[in-house]
Amino acid sequence: MTASACLTLALMHVCIWCQQRDAWANLLFALTAVATAALAGFELAMMRAEMPAAFASALRWGHLPVWVIVVSLVGFVQLYLRAGRPWLAWTVCGLRTLSLLPNFLVGQNLNYREITGLRHLPFFGEPVSVAEGVANPWMLVGQLSLLLLVIFVADAALAVWRRGDRRQALMVGGSIVLALLAATVQAVLVFWGMLRWPITASWFYLGLVAAMAYELSRDALRAAQLTRELRASEQRMTLAAEAANLGVWFREFARNEIWASDQWRAMFGFAKSERLELDRVLQRLHPDDREVVRQAMAKATAGDGDYETEYRVLLPDGRLRWIVSRGRVEFNGGGKPVRMRGVSVDITRRKLAELEIQSHREEVAHLLRVASLGELSTALAHELNQPLMAILSNAQAAQRFLAQDKLDPAEIREILKDIVADDQRASEVICRLRTLLKKGEFQPQALDVNELIQDVIKLMNGDLAARAVSVVTEFAAGLPPIRGDRVQLQQVLINLILNAGDAMTQTAAGARVLTLRSRRGEGGVIQICVADTGSGVPLGDEQKIFEPYHTTKAAGLGLGLSLSRSMIVAHGGRLWVENRAGGGAVFCFTLPEWKGEAR
Ligand code: ADP
Repeated sequence: MTASACLTLALMHVCIWCQQRDAWANLLFALTAVATAALAGFELAMMRAEMPAAFASALRWGHLPVWVIVVSLVGFVQLYLRAGRPWLAWTVCGLRTLSLLPNFLVGQNLNYREITGLRHLPFFGEPVSVAEGVANPWMLVGQLSLLLLVIFVADAALAVWRRGDRRQALMVGGSIVLALLAATVQAVLVFWGMLRWPITASWFYLGLVAAMAYELSRDALRAAQLTRELRASEQRMTLAAEAANLGVWFREFARNEIWASDQWRAMFGFAKSERLELDRVLQRLHPDDREVVRQAMAKATAGDGDYETEYRVLLPDGRLRWIVSRGRVEFNGGGKPVRMRGVSVDITRRKLAELEIQSHREEVAHLLRVASLGELSTALAHELNQPLMAILSNAQAAQRFLAQDKLDPAEIREILKDIVADDQRASEVICRLRTLLKKGEFQPQALDVNELIQDVIKLMNGDLAARAVSVVTEFAAGLPPIRGDRVQLQQVLINLILNAGDAMTQTAAGARVLTLRSRRGEGGVIQICVADTGSGVPLGDEQKIFEPYHTTKAAGLGLGLSLSRSMIVAHGGRLWVENRAGGGAVFCFTLPEWKGEAR
């Protein structure tokens, strides 16, 4: 019965080991159980022995399974409990192995030098044989190894207890120690002739095997429970990912294969079973965005591992989707990228809303330009009037010459030259106006800052003169071009100059100075400043004035500065204000230098 119980348990755990080759504790347990079964067989043979020689031989061969039990138990304790002193483990195994030598070489076996006779005892109603003879002193080696094994296991159990795994220390450590002690005590009493009783060590080992099996099956149950919990957590994750419209993906670099959730596949227009590779995914992207994504990936694998990019997906049915992807690269110990995990989110709706807001912003900017040109209209009319008047008087002079028949070709040529020059002046004014009144999208190009400021000054000269404002320019020479949209930047300058003019109305006429400055800033930017000698910005209002609808003017809209700031930010720059020590305010903004990039 002992043998069949042990073999059944061994079979189960051999099966587990076959499916999970690193489950060495299960294999060692199976070895202990098989050896216990074998020991039970030899013990039965001893009980049934008719002759002393048969008894002696069964006892001799019985030491082999005991050796297996000792060695596999030591291994089990080390692997499963992750405890036990290695030197003790080696000593136990060494001594037990050593005991096999006298077992096979000295006397009849390890326990008897010679078995002189057999005695029959009643045992559970059956007569069984027990031996009588001369004890072999070498058996002390075997018994010492058992005693050391008890100490080794007790010490390991103590370490496990201290580690906090008290149940495991008691259950595994305690039962092994008890079973081993019982078997050792029985062996000492019987073989040294103090007790007449058949050897039943396998019974004690069966207790030990049962305790080990119980512990291992608890692990199997726990693994099953963890699997259930994992599945539930996975379902929750999928649900959350679906609810948040998240597509999850995973890329293994070595295999060049991408795993993606169903949600992700639907987002990119791939069928559930379709095989995914990087090239196929890139083909799905908008042609203009492929390089951006490729570069973002290269940066993530070569850098800190963070990946984030925004791109458009062109679905097979022609629809366009905006996607934002975030991920992380995992590196191995040698710093080589191994895999990349991430999520993708469909942001098409947000993007469309953003584009709509952008177009509204452009609309407002345009209206504001029209409004500020309205403010300039008197001055502009004056500026236009001048060349027109000159053209008129020149034309009238020519008419007069013709009426008097005084045709001097040289004079007529001179008059026509003046007319052409004045016409060009007028058309320049109109041209500048048209550029500003034009509705247009953000069109960045390489611009010369000083030229840009000069253009605006020309446009506003009349207005500034009417307000008795003198203009001072402090331009740095040899500035590199900046990257910007001409109309937007002109609009920013017009806003700032108009505000400066407004702020100087209370300043004495001779002291109204507008200073326009350009210089090279730090970190590859150009800085432009518009300084006035006006009222200055009230202390604490330095941020508030940039908020939309904040105005201190009766007819003000309060949009000029907020719009200017968003336009400068869209250019990758900054706009801020400072009060000047001698009175007045200075508004400065930065613009990135043109680096000759493709877009
Ligand atoms: P608006 O000119 O229609 O009032 P802005 O956004 O251009 O709108 O300006 C907001 C406010 O900032 C102005 O009302 C004014 O109080 C203040 N401000 C702007 N520029 C200056 C300046 N150069 N000096 C003093 N205050 C200014």
